[in-house]
Amino acid sequence: MGAFFIWANFYGSYYRIQKWGIGGGTKNKNTKRYEKCFPYWEKYIILKIVKKLTNTEDTMKDYIIGIDIGGTSVKLGLFTIEGELVHKWEVVTDKSNNGSNILNDICKSVKETLEEQQIPIDNVQGAGMGIPGPARSDGYVETCPNLGWRNCNPAKELSELLQIPVFVGNDANVAALGELWKGGGKGADTMVLITLGTGVGSGIIMNGEIVAGNRGLSGELGHVTVNIEEKEACNCNNYGCLEQYASATGIVRVANRMLNASQKPSKLREFDTLTAKDIFDCAKEYDEVAMEAVEKLGEYLGRTMASVTFTIDPDVFVIGGGVSKAGEILLNVINKYYKRYVCLSSQMGEVRLATLGNDAGIYGAAKMALGK
Ligand SMILES: [Zn+2]
Repeated sequence: MGAFFIWANFYGSYYRIQKWGIGGGTKNKNTKRYEKCFPYWEKYIILKIVKKLTNTEDTMKDYIIGIDIGGTSVKLGLFTIEGELVHKWEVVTDKSNNGSNILNDICKSVKETLEEQQIPIDNVQGAGMGIPGPARSDGYVETCPNLGWRNCNPAKELSELLQIPVFVGNDANVAALGELWKGGGKGADTMVLITLGTGVGSGIIMNGEIVAGNRGLSGELGHVTVNIEEKEACNCNNYGCLEQYASATGIVRVANRMLNASQKPSKLREFDTLTAKDIFDCAKEYDEVAMEAVEKLGEYLGRTMASVTFTIDPDVFVIGGGVSKAGEILLNVINKYYKRYVCLSSQMGEVRLATLGNDAGIYGAAKMALGK
């Protein structure tokens, strides 16, 4: 069956050369031999039968497109189906008229780029798209305030514009898929990506697939309540969310609060506008207040990760976002508390750093385009 499959793939590439004069291989002695053996219509029928038998009907194209729509720009990537990034570019997110121009702009830009790269759209298997809001697995979007979208199906709309299959997911979930495919989660089957940026985002992948949930709320770990004593409200109007302690703005808030509550000498007092990086840098130099703020982050995040372990027991946690640049000190403090709160097993999920940075979204979106 293996040899048959290889032959079928080879034959598929050959068929494309004949039809469009592009991609997938070069004409050689063997292809010429096949050319002699079978006239055109026979080749077509044989190829169809082979595709059906080997279930490779939709996997014989060479490229996929990953799209990551953000509030200010849309990142796009043209990939080979093996996941090699061929070309990366960006367009401005036009949010005027409730974001009604966004998909047309993407379509125009994709077509222009394919033309530049001399790749026909027929050789693109599909596109995936990450959006900054909840998305159902059928592509339906109830509301996406960051883009102005309401009750629409951007997957269906872009698919009609480009004439290729399009899949849509929440950007954090899509980024998680990217890290699983080509980044820090490589080799894992079930993985949770936690991004520590301005807020705390997360995406859950189970058995290689995004877990979107019924309303797209799955993986909103940033708004898990970790401190019921908290008096200050989170952006979501709840109190004591993980995001209030473990995001870049959260750790600054915690450190400022500690500085105001005591007279302890601290290097942090020397900064006009404190950043998460300043706190981690000072913690590395054993500044007491900075270390306390880092410990607080580790405690709340580690405890949340333990709860996630008791829920889905992932192979790997991948930590991304700007705060993850702190590196080893962050991993150490997360591991310390994560291990403290996980029980019942001596083994637990591995904690790793993300490796794809801002490209995780386009990688994950491209992976979606491959379908199941
Ligand atoms: Zn919240």
